[in-house]
Amino acid sequence: MKEKSESCGLWFQFPVIDLGLCSECLGCIEIAPNIFVYNYDLGMMEVIEQESYDRQLVDEAMKNCPKKCISWEC
Ligand code: SF4
Repeated sequence: MKEKSESCGLWFQFPVIDLGLCSECLGCIEIAPNIFVYNYDLGMMEVIEQESYDRQLVDEAMKNCPKKCISWEC
């Protein structure tokens, strides 16, 4: 079931990583390996594109990110 975003009023939100802040600690991958991945070719973190995201997992990764650089966007 899709959740309505309170911040934007749309029906879909996705996680984004502020790459300028990310320290590439890979902690988010440990928590949510199906959502976050390290792109070794480009040398940066990426969010795996999906039709919907597990809110609890993303929130957990967000909470534990040492740089606080994961956020929801819509
Ligand atoms: S946990 Fe945060 S700082 Fe670490 S790789 Fe993920 S987004 Fe970057």
